[in-house]
Amino acid sequence: MNFFKQKNLLKNPFNSISEENTFDNSCEVDRKLMISNELKNSLNRIYPVFQPKVSLKDKKIIGAEILARYTSKDLGVVSPKEFIPIAEEHNLIAQIDLKIIEQAFIFIKKELDSNIILNDFRISFNLSLKTFNQVDLVDCLKNLLKKYNISGCYFEAEITESIFIKDINNTIQKLNHLKELGMEISIDDFTVGHSTAQLLCLLPVDIVKFDKCLLDSLDINQSKGIIIYKNLTNLIKELDLRIVAEGVETKDQLDFLEDLKVDYIQGYYISKPLSKEVASIIFRNRTNSFSRLP
Ligand code: C2E
Ligand code: CA
Ligand code: CA
Repeated sequence: MNFFKQKNLLKNPFNSISEENTFDNSCEVDRKLMISNELKNSLNRIYPVFQPKVSLKDKKIIGAEILARYTSKDLGVVSPKEFIPIAEEHNLIAQIDLKIIEQAFIFIKKELDSNIILNDFRISFNLSLKTFNQVDLVDCLKNLLKKYNISGCYFEAEITESIFIKDINNTIQKLNHLKELGMEISIDDFTVGHSTAQLLCLLPVDIVKFDKCLLDSLDINQSKGIIIYKNLTNLIKELDLRIVAEGVETKDQLDFLEDLKVDYIQGYYISKPLSKEVASIIFRNRTNSFSRLP
């Protein structure tokens, strides 16, 4: 809010609030419309970046998460936190997810064709609830595996608990199909109080990704945060699942996770998401122990 609007607000708060809101809302609506129209007309401005994941046991890169990026013609770079919900609202998310998944396949194919050994290396991709339900996901993935002639063992699907709201049996069946293709399944954005905690033993999942907010809670209330993190870690380990800690930003957090014997970490402390060109160079040297990446 600029200085003049602030002054107006002080003079006549009620009028100004409504004027301000009208102005802001119409701007927001215009922006949303611009984004949805551009995405509708072409997905060319969507491209992938790759954020490495590192094993804490041997400090080696074990894979990466592929994330969508979007540079608008008129608005410049738009955050996924803004365009993904718009794409979901306008039923464009399945196309975006599938485009990003295909980029993951193309990336792996290119590495394999260059004789790069990718044993135990996986790229995880995000599946929105609508993608999971709308398209025939299993067939799409099968077709991509055939098209690029690669194994599903290089991939991992990240799902959130929202996909279990609908038909749990159908969801389990679909997840089992993905596993039959050689893919792993991870639960994304896991936090305290999620109903998924009870579902974990039912579901064919391999990995649980602890949300960044769990690590952040260590800063807010150290002793309680530690108890929560420790107990959740033990719970997941007892269920024989692996853990990825997301949002690791500091050496202290890394040391804490190492003490808890968390399996993998992902976060700015290791590396921000990388372009496909930089990612390819970094991953080719992945058998070296990691130091902090660019
Ligand atoms: P997410 O799936 O939880 O992805 C992790 C997000 O955390 C990414 O944000 C990543 O850049 C960010 N991040 C990683 N390490 C750190 C850290 O140390 N500190 C902080 N502050 N952030 C960190 P990004 O790329 O902005 O994506 C935001 C969300 O947008 C994703 O959250 C995911 O829900 C969604 N998204 C991104 N790409 C796709 C996609 O291709 N398909 C779908 N359906 N959703 C996507
Ligand atoms: Ca994710
Ligand atoms: Ca996440």
